[in-house]
Amino acid sequence: MNNRKVRVRFAPSPTGPLHMGGVRTALFNYLFARKNNGSFILRIEDTDQSRYVQGAEDYIIESLKWCGINIDEGIEEGGAYGPYRQSDRKEIYKEFAERLIELGNAYYAFDTAEELEEMRNKLKAEKSSIQQYNAITRRSMRNSFTLSVEETTKLIDSDTPFVIRFKMPENEEVIVEDIIRGTVKVNTNQLDDKVLFKSDGMPTYHLANIVDDHLMKISHVIRGEEWLPSLPLHVLLYRSFGWEKTMPEFAHLPLLLKPNGKGKLSKRDGDALGFPVFPLEWTDPKTGEVSNGYREDGYFPEAFVNILALLGWNPGTEKEILSLRELTSSFDLIKVHKAGAKFDHEKAKWFNHQYLAGKSDQKLARLYQTILKEKGITSDDSFVINVVKLIKERVNFVSEFWEQSFFFFQKPGEYDPKVVKKRWKENTPELLSELKKQLDVLEIFNHDNLEKTIQDFLEEKELGMGQVMNPLRLTLVGGGIGPGVLDIVELLGKQETLDRIQAGIDNIKKE
Ligand code: GLU
Repeated sequence: MNNRKVRVRFAPSPTGPLHMGGVRTALFNYLFARKNNGSFILRIEDTDQSRYVQGAEDYIIESLKWCGINIDEGIEEGGAYGPYRQSDRKEIYKEFAERLIELGNAYYAFDTAEELEEMRNKLKAEKSSIQQYNAITRRSMRNSFTLSVEETTKLIDSDTPFVIRFKMPENEEVIVEDIIRGTVKVNTNQLDDKVLFKSDGMPTYHLANIVDDHLMKISHVIRGEEWLPSLPLHVLLYRSFGWEKTMPEFAHLPLLLKPNGKGKLSKRDGDALGFPVFPLEWTDPKTGEVSNGYREDGYFPEAFVNILALLGWNPGTEKEILSLRELTSSFDLIKVHKAGAKFDHEKAKWFNHQYLAGKSDQKLARLYQTILKEKGITSDDSFVINVVKLIKERVNFVSEFWEQSFFFFQKPGEYDPKVVKKRWKENTPELLSELKKQLDVLEIFNHDNLEKTIQDFLEEKELGMGQVMNPLRLTLVGGGIGPGVLDIVELLGKQETLDRIQAGIDNIKKE
């Protein structure tokens, strides 16, 4: 790495909700910046007005905030190299496009959509190996190469729509080093004269991106692999401007793949397999269609960040649970893999479980209280803390607390017929009645005493554990679910336990 100050940018286009792959790109930029005492910049690339989507910019910012990815320079934060939204920098790009023309590396093209179509059809009919606007075809099109200076000036002065195209050199080998992918080599004959500046007065992605990376003194471009094909053009643009010496280093991150490893991870995969591909819930402003988000699905941001960090990278140890701080200290671009990273949704749930189980009972109880309140249930914090203690190992999400513990907050309304059929025997009511008497006389109603009482009871009656514990559970929770029966009994307390046993005896009837 050279000795430049590290300055990296995340440069999303606000064309819709940010895909989790985009968040990973932001995260890797952020980790790299923090590791190297550099700056992390958010630049909004919104020059393609036709793809602009209302709300997408706010969504991007909110997503990064939720993940704890702090921005050093950006549209909200400001900074010395602003503005940070490309539509606010329009004037700058025109000037640079014209500079490229002066340098002889770009040119005006006046071809209409029909003329371009005609060229393509002609090339197709001729079965030409060239299918694009390039060093050969440009000779027969309407541009400042084929037209005289006077004609060109006249067309511009009379407001004829034009674009500015890059003059792709002929038959040149472009060689560039990518930190992750190694040497990338392309012959310019495979590339076309890309449009840099459009007839609507806006730059294309390529021009705006290069100009801004240069002006914002970006030291490393870390972005998704889908941008690799643009790399040779970008390198040529740096050369054409004479900026080669300060050209950033490049690192193209591997794609996120479907769980089966076959192809790019898409929203459709998420829909089909039941997991979100977006950090936050998103409502399409046009169709009203709602897409799930990790936040709303109950993932902790730390878990989400941890999951993303390990898609295509690992610290080289077996350790999987890593805080943002740990990720920062061990992050290294060199260790990012070339191969696509398979996304494993089941593993993602496991990560959330790890973070959930690692939280204090107090914190989890607070989160659970919100859910209980929504259900109109009021319960003491200390009781909820005890409930959470019993069930937190059994769930991946706070939203699953209820299904694991509703019976602590309400008496069984009905009894699961399947469990009744299997567990409720003819002598059960009598056995439970006797057990109830024994429990009734217990002075200290704690786990140890309960265990002893029940053990003695089983021995005395020569019964197996299941013969008593299963129906007992049925009376307490209404089915065959929940944590250990003794834990339930202890937490429900004596009176509630006795009441429920009696209600079971009175109400459970075999069909
Ligand atoms: N605006 C591009 C995007 O949406 C940025 C690509 C880059 O980082 O160069 O991903």
